[in-house]
Amino acid sequence: MSLDGTYDAGNIFARILRGEMPSVRVFEDDHVLAFMDVFPQARGHTLVIPKHSTARNFLEEAPENVGPLLLGVQRVARAVRAALTPDGIAISQFNGAVSGQTVYHLHFHIIPRWEGVPLGRHGEGMADVEELKGLAEQIAAKIA
Ligand code: 5GP
Repeated sequence: MSLDGTYDAGNIFARILRGEMPSVRVFEDDHVLAFMDVFPQARGHTLVIPKHSTARNFLEEAPENVGPLLLGVQRVARAVRAALTPDGIAISQFNGAVSGQTVYHLHFHIIPRWEGVPLGRHGEGMADVEELKGLAEQIAAKIA
């Protein structure tokens, strides 16, 4: 899919938001939902999505939604840091298939990084759900 297109309300993140698909939730407020990436590139890989949005990518998002969304990303990233004490954190967001986007509901990746631990491949290798639940609990406990 290119940068152009129409929002598909059947996309996996929309279904997670509606509770039609399971997810390991970390945090939510009026604006954002954070949950564990089920094909994590690193331990603690968390996704943050806007709850009231039909933006397929960042460029399409209504300007008034950007502030609350990024505040949510920062809040969750701080909790990831406090919970897992990584050496660094990559925050990424892809727009269009050629950039690496595979799910067409706007989302940000929060990916903790540790010295000497290579980044896993994007969207490969399903995580153990019980392990994700433990990580989600640790991160949720540090939301400030
Ligand atoms: P994108 O490639 O669009 O930037 O990122 C999509 C992300 O969603 C990938 O990191 C992929 O692992 C993750 N993902 C895909 N399907 C599911 C799912 O059903 N549940 C969860 N929690 N993550 C998913």
